[in-house]
Amino acid sequence: MSKTQPASARVRSVGVSDSGAPVLSDKQRSYKALFDSFTQDSEGRISPFEVLTRLRRAGICADDRRIQDAWSALDTPGQESGRLDLDRFIAICQRNSGIISRAIRGELVVPDFPRFVQDIESIYQELLNERSGAVANYIPQLGRVDPERLAIAVCTTDGQRFSVGDHSVNFCLQSVCKPINYLLALEEHGAPTVHRHVGCEPSGVRFNELSLSDKGIPRNPMINSGAIMCSSLIRPADNMADRFDYVADAWRRLASGGRIGFNNAVYLSERDSADRNFALGYFMREKKAFPSGADLLHTLEFYFQCCSIEIDADSLAATAAALATGGVAPLTETRLFSTDNVKKCLSLMSSCGMYDYSGEFAFHIGLPAKSGVAGALLIVVPQILGIAVWSPRLDEVGNSVRGIKFARMLTEKYNFHAYDGLVSGDESGKRDPRRRKNETTADGVVRLCWAASQGDLDDVRGTIATGIDPSTSDYDGRTALHLAASEGQLEVVRYLLQQGANPHARDRWGGTPATDADREGHTAVARLLTRAPADDKPAAVS
Ligand code: GLU
Repeated sequence: MSKTQPASARVRSVGVSDSGAPVLSDKQRSYKALFDSFTQDSEGRISPFEVLTRLRRAGICADDRRIQDAWSALDTPGQESGRLDLDRFIAICQRNSGIISRAIRGELVVPDFPRFVQDIESIYQELLNERSGAVANYIPQLGRVDPERLAIAVCTTDGQRFSVGDHSVNFCLQSVCKPINYLLALEEHGAPTVHRHVGCEPSGVRFNELSLSDKGIPRNPMINSGAIMCSSLIRPADNMADRFDYVADAWRRLASGGRIGFNNAVYLSERDSADRNFALGYFMREKKAFPSGADLLHTLEFYFQCCSIEIDADSLAATAAALATGGVAPLTETRLFSTDNVKKCLSLMSSCGMYDYSGEFAFHIGLPAKSGVAGALLIVVPQILGIAVWSPRLDEVGNSVRGIKFARMLTEKYNFHAYDGLVSGDESGKRDPRRRKNETTADGVVRLCWAASQGDLDDVRGTIATGIDPSTSDYDGRTALHLAASEGQLEVVRYLLQQGANPHARDRWGGTPATDADREGHTAVARLLTRAPADDKPAAVS
């Protein structure tokens, strides 16, 4: 590091080279590159607020537990003392599981998160005009909810979050409890036992139809009979209070600490108007479908309680994201369900999750989802994100009208349908949010800049050989020549100039390769860069 570099921009090196220059480990170099992407003051320190802003843009929210430690360090009152030098920046980056550095580098699962947010917001605006459908009233208390409510929340598998509308207003899970009850039963007993009591076929009849399979068991866990059956399998030996606590705690963990409530009025109202569910229960008992020892009345009450659990869209999106990862809650990085069980659950959500619209939903939307009569819709985009939509007006089969419309609009824009991968992006005209803008170029730039900073002339040559413009810059306007010049890579600088790289390129702080080299004390490189263009550059160089 040069004599001219401010003390605060130095980092404790792992050694010193023959020439007395500090040798940085690969990790330090990569953190330094990250640090260098921020605006540095005259002391070589960066503003914590710029770091926060970049994290927020990437979808990492202030209440994200993974960065709480780092966040409090960043939010130090008295901004001057809060400014970060390189060592402190590295310490902060290391205090979490790499989420800060990945977010800043744009390496999270949805790299262009602001664009995605913009699209969700415009769908939200359009949905506000949709007023068809009617609020469910067969459970009297549900009929009292404000039909105008609308919330959309998304959470990616990397925990990038965005929500809009009534996203922190609680609503009842109703049938959205069914996939989780199924998962809890699977975790406790394993699939062979669970599926001795409940099938995995779409029912083809209404969700509360008095009908069982030929084997005398419910056809699947996503309809009422199947959900009552799964409820009977959850902690059957425990008392009612413990069973409820167990399920509520599972939801709390799925919501990564988000608020989970219980709507006693809905519970009482449902219990008082549950003739159909009681009939289903007696029918199944008559067919000896329940596991031995199951108490029917307790089972039904437990099922009604699960339906009356309250959640908001933010927490439901976090839950959907935990299914999208295959069972790990992204915001706490805790495994809650086995991947194999989540796979089973998502399969049944895909075929049976949307009442009598399940087939059409699979056809048009192509995503696992579960809706409930309170107007909630949980959608899983495997390996990318989870979505919660809440809007109480339902269509004739019981799905939220705006929820279905949202799913349609989203999948018209994005290639989320299970089989969109069969059609190339260009043909379908759909966006892939996993892809960076100009991905091919971006990858090439990253590779070129990295190789240039490392002095890896072979790889610089290899990258240039793929046809990438040697003057291409990254998001911050940094070119390979800037990087090579900063690191004193004389041979790489010479080669890049020969290849026509622009020595006058300015990064977003106004720096040129020559000023970088000068700042770092690489005089030979600086001299080479400031020499007359004809000396080292072909005419093509501007
Ligand atoms: N608790 C409701 C019932 O059993 C759930 C209905 C639903 O959301 O599908 O009727």
